[in-house]
Amino acid sequence: MAEGFPERYSRQLPIIGKEGQDKLRKATITIIGVGGLGGIVSYYLVSAGIKHLKIVDGDRVEESNLNRQILYSTDDIGKVKVEVAAEKLKRINPDVVIEPYHTLLSEDNVEEIIDKSTLVIDALDKWSSRFILNKACVEKKIPLIHGGVEGLLGQLIVIIPGKTPCLKCVLPKKPPEKRGLPILGPTPGIIGSMQALEAIKFITGIGKIQAGIVILFNGYNNEIRKIPIRRNSKCPICGGINKHS
Ligand SMILES: [Zn+2]
Repeated sequence: MAEGFPERYSRQLPIIGKEGQDKLRKATITIIGVGGLGGIVSYYLVSAGIKHLKIVDGDRVEESNLNRQILYSTDDIGKVKVEVAAEKLKRINPDVVIEPYHTLLSEDNVEEIIDKSTLVIDALDKWSSRFILNKACVEKKIPLIHGGVEGLLGQLIVIIPGKTPCLKCVLPKKPPEKRGLPILGPTPGIIGSMQALEAIKFITGIGKIQAGIVILFNGYNNEIRKIPIRRNSKCPICGGINKHS
């Protein structure tokens, strides 16, 4: 067991080393949306021992959330999501500072919310909010890990501003908003786990970050496709950002 580290990290220290654990211990991560995806991502990042987690969500727990949103129980119905989530995450790892924001992400609050983040997780279900987040992360040069799910399908994109395509490069036109999408619980479980894994890899420096590609997961046949994506030099969001700046 590595000296100076709690026993709770003993099974990951052989993989990420003391250095990696130290990097996690200094990281601030902001998760926008603590539903199906955000619940999974926050659970693993807090368990892994990051320093500071900001969670942002304007919703309250509804019964229809419970087939996939693992931080919430039946007796949480009606309660403010970020408050329930903060309490549960704190019980998982009391060493992590959890900062809940009970608000909807908007152009007015996004900069303040993501400020000083090591990286940001897009666990949203609304495209308009995702594009607000993408723009702010590109402007502040904060890496963004996008995840999205529907039914048994999911996608993941790691965005490193100035180096890889941003969300607007990949989706020049905003896809139509769909509310109350059909979803099976394991789908956000898988994509959320992938987002958490990419976040831990990015911070600790292990493995290969899946940047510059879209990962498409199809739960009907367990197929995972990796599709290369390119920066659009005319992208209104990231087109002006130099690769090396
Ligand atoms: Zn772009």
